[in-house]
Amino acid sequence: MALFTPGRRWQPPFLPFKREPFGRRLLARIERWTKGPLWGCRMCGNCLLQETAFICPMECPKGMRNGPCGGSTPERCYVDETRPCIWYRIYDRAFRMGREEKLLEVLPPLDWDKAGTETWGDVFRSVRKYGTGKFLKSFFSRDREIKTGAWEGVFRPVRQPGWWQGDSAYHPPASLEPVSRLERELRAGKFVITTEVSPPLSTTTGKLKRDIEMVRNLVTAVNFTDSASASPRMSSMACCKVAAELGADPVLQIAARDKTRSGLQADVVGANVMGVKNVLCITGDHARIGPTPTSNMNILDMDAVQMLWILRRMRDEGVYLDGRKMKSPPVLFLGAAASPFASEPHFQALREQKKVNAGAQFFQTNVIFDPQGLETWLEALYKRDVLNKVYILAGVIPIRSKRMAHYLHDTIPGVRVPEWILNRFEETREDDCEELGVEIALDLIEKIRTKQGIHGLHLMSVGWEAIVPRIIGEAGLTPSP
Ligand code: SF4
Repeated sequence: MALFTPGRRWQPPFLPFKREPFGRRLLARIERWTKGPLWGCRMCGNCLLQETAFICPMECPKGMRNGPCGGSTPERCYVDETRPCIWYRIYDRAFRMGREEKLLEVLPPLDWDKAGTETWGDVFRSVRKYGTGKFLKSFFSRDREIKTGAWEGVFRPVRQPGWWQGDSAYHPPASLEPVSRLERELRAGKFVITTEVSPPLSTTTGKLKRDIEMVRNLVTAVNFTDSASASPRMSSMACCKVAAELGADPVLQIAARDKTRSGLQADVVGANVMGVKNVLCITGDHARIGPTPTSNMNILDMDAVQMLWILRRMRDEGVYLDGRKMKSPPVLFLGAAASPFASEPHFQALREQKKVNAGAQFFQTNVIFDPQGLETWLEALYKRDVLNKVYILAGVIPIRSKRMAHYLHDTIPGVRVPEWILNRFEETREDDCEELGVEIALDLIEKIRTKQGIHGLHLMSVGWEAIVPRIIGEAGLTPSP
């Protein structure tokens, strides 16, 4: 186990793609023999140690580089329960060191051309560019500003390459002109409802179209999941096209799990010409909770924060990640998932602030069973001055059975079903469970809808689309004609 990274064990380092000159190979070996035992360094070639409280984030099985995923817990990583969640440890140490604001900086995805090579060469080159003498002198200066300035002058160019230029600032959308019904109604101050319609398993679209027609006039927008729980179904993109043709406002969900940064950019430009303007960026459930044979378990090519950063720049600056310009950029209303109950509320609030800074304009939260816990998270967002920058749609699921209640609690990352709900289902006859599920959902909606900072609800029916009209009706949320 590495000395300073409270990880599971020293993981295999990345190896360089091509054979490097002798000098670079030697430097890489020295770096590996030093940083390996100390920090569990995996030689990613894009070192972030200073930004992550001197704990190497590459221990994370998803390769998250901008904070914990929605499944992070104080006890363990949800992907591999034999190890702690490294991002929980990073946030915990950063908050204790008073360095949490450094975690706000939007960090780039790996430059894979550098994986397996040394980072020290970049540092030496940056010191020379900055001025070796000036840099060394700053070590002995008592002036904190000089020290920080020198440090930033050398290390910022190393961690923020020209093609990324990430920062910790809030980047508001270039235009406030709404691009979709969802954005228009949220900007108009309406309490909106969105819902999910499950993508079909096969190529038939009969049920899909019926479900869309059934909810189209009851909700503002309809989400289509991107192979939820890493189980393949019809693509979110195809379902969005069907929905747009039926006059509904679709929300395209994109999971980083199955996408490369090139695929993301290409798909979003394509989706835009199919009438899709709302895009929800999620990292996605890990392949390990998906069906067997288990698909790719390597680290992801990007995380949700990076997806938002790339898409916002495409929309507002008309540029691809590689710098190529577009004559007509995509028009997008960007969203992200938020997990009020993952890790700690103040950790999540920082994470959510980072998503908003990167480009998120709306959140659809993970499912909420604890309105009080939701309040704590909203307060943490308020303290970080985030609530006035993002529309929040609170996630509600009508539980259909005991088995579903336990599945949600035991398997879905970031979901906690309170004991009292599990007990109520245990005491209820199987035939009455659906009624109980509706009763609890209606009660939660009543408690959630009045909370400051909540702009709507996201009804996740998990294949029980038929119950959506009843819940909207009985909650008194049927839209006026
Ligand atoms: S819980 Fe998520 S963020 Fe934490 S180590 Fe596991 S995959 Fe990474």
